[in-house]
Amino acid sequence: MIVTLAPDAPASTVAALSAAAAAAGLTARTLPDGRGGASLGVDGTLAPDLLDLPGISAVRATHKPYMLASREACARSVVRVGDVTIGDGRPVLMAGPCSVEGREQIVATARAVRAAGADMLRGGAFKPRTSPYSFQGLGEEGLRLLAEAREASGLPVVTEVMETEQVELVAAHADMLQIGARNMANFPLLKRVGKTDRPVLLKRGFSATIEEWLMSAEYILAAGNPNVVLCERGIRGFDPLLRFNLDLNAVPLAKELTHLPVIVDPSHGTGKRSLVPAMALAGIAAGADGLIIEVHPDPAHALSDAAQTITPTELAHIHRKVQALHATLAAAEQPEPLLVELEVALSA
Ligand code: PEP
Ligand code: MN
Repeated sequence: MIVTLAPDAPASTVAALSAAAAAAGLTARTLPDGRGGASLGVDGTLAPDLLDLPGISAVRATHKPYMLASREACARSVVRVGDVTIGDGRPVLMAGPCSVEGREQIVATARAVRAAGADMLRGGAFKPRTSPYSFQGLGEEGLRLLAEAREASGLPVVTEVMETEQVELVAAHADMLQIGARNMANFPLLKRVGKTDRPVLLKRGFSATIEEWLMSAEYILAAGNPNVVLCERGIRGFDPLLRFNLDLNAVPLAKELTHLPVIVDPSHGTGKRSLVPAMALAGIAAGADGLIIEVHPDPAHALSDAAQTITPTELAHIHRKVQALHATLAAAEQPEPLLVELEVALSA
């Protein structure tokens, strides 16, 4: 059940609803509704007499199974990572290597992506590799190097956490926790990151439906962490020329269904560096709130995902084009005087 509270709802109403939920063995979670009020999501049904309390503006007994993530609970949410805001209309650029490989590599990349226009640094310390014989990441040392790269560049850091037991360790070094595609349905891990105060980047599993992806986001929200950003990173296709198919339908569809920001990963979504610029722009055109892109000073020699990794110079070109596309799209949102006149004439 979703109970919508007006902006001026008395605190006593929320307290009474929460107490009644607890007494019935239910859990109630509040989150801002994006319209100045709040939504209270209850995993069950409250007695009808409670729903006459002052300040309740709507009650939804039926709703999406991803109650807290749905547009019914909130119009739009903005997620903050340090000074960076995701979902407020300006596209955010996260960039960096697939893996942290050493001090010089990550610090140089952090400075270079910053100069190229990135807002955040990405880099994996714990890597989910298909082969156990591939480079597995530097682990805890990689986390320390990411923290050094943050100091050197001023960019907040997003990095993957793969195991429940490592959540606190990764959260101590990172500004944002990444849940990788292979762990999208690792429910204990989702619950654990839901208990931290770190924003979470939730990648879509490459064979997950959009509803399954939103249900995974719901696990994090239901555990108490409202700061979730979704990332479309490509799904399995049948063409061996492409590593994955970047599913850009997912962007406007997710935005219809959820208030959470959505970003696009054209690196994993294509697996091919020559396709990254076009698909980055396509992601923004589809309405994404940002991009996450793999960048290395010497892409051909990257220890992981070399084939899809671009140079900082190529990132700078993408950044410039994204800015231009965003400005053009924003300008086109303004009412067109001729169209306004036409609408007035037609309605007269
Ligand atoms: C990554 O970001 O390097 C990564 C492994 O991503 P995904 O989980 O989307 O494969
Ligand atoms: Mn990668």
